[in-house]
Amino acid sequence: MVADNYRSIRKQVDETALKCGRQPEEITLIAVSKTKPLEDIEELIQIGVKDFGENKVQELCDKYERVSAPVRFHQIGHLQTNKVKYVVDKASLIHSVDSLKLAKELQKEAAKRQIISEILIEVNVAEEATKFGLHTEEVLPFVQEIAKFANIHVNGLMTIAPFVENPEENRKYFRTLKQLSLDIISKNIDNINMNVLSMGMTNDYKVAIEEGATMVRVGTAIFGARNYTI
Ligand SMILES: *Cc1c(COP(=O)(O)O)cnc(C)c1O
Repeated sequence: MVADNYRSIRKQVDETALKCGRQPEEITLIAVSKTKPLEDIEELIQIGVKDFGENKVQELCDKYERVSAPVRFHQIGHLQTNKVKYVVDKASLIHSVDSLKLAKELQKEAAKRQIISEILIEVNVAEEATKFGLHTEEVLPFVQEIAKFANIHVNGLMTIAPFVENPEENRKYFRTLKQLSLDIISKNIDNINMNVLSMGMTNDYKVAIEEGATMVRVGTAIFGARNYTI
């Protein structure tokens, strides 16, 4: 069931890419497995899925230890500084870096383990009070600051768009994130890469692809609705 859902979403991702003149291989579909059992993840591993998204450090670490084959776990939820030490060597990509304090902690813990922490910078493009992330105009100075951190590698930007009925309403935010990445590229900063734009979820991933997403994070459409009360 979950495998069928995944295949159907993957097909729509590919079709959307082709329709707007992009290559399907440019777009990673991250299966957002937060709150969902390991069996669902295993069903997807069976069909070759390699990228999973988790919100909570504890849950990511737990699933990381238990999966039957190596896959990439993406830390997509807010990351507290005191949890960095648990996740720094388990998350393939941390999508939610949004403060100097967090970046410093990642640098410290990655250096200790002699690894490079692959990260994205989370941008609160829509400036929603309830969301984490830097405001658009804060991103360039932040990037310039953390470019010097030897054990952190910035791969691009991430945003969580507002929850809206009509995904077209989020197009402007995706466009802003893409433009911001182009502005940063034009500065030619050492150690800063803008290959990844992580944007688009169940409700709005097609619009995000049209605006340049290279990673879409889809949960509900693959795994069904989440139950947070358990
Ligand atoms: C839960 C979550 C998603 C997936 O949301 P769906 O609407 O279920 O596709 C994507 N990104 C982040 C950061 C999330 O927390």
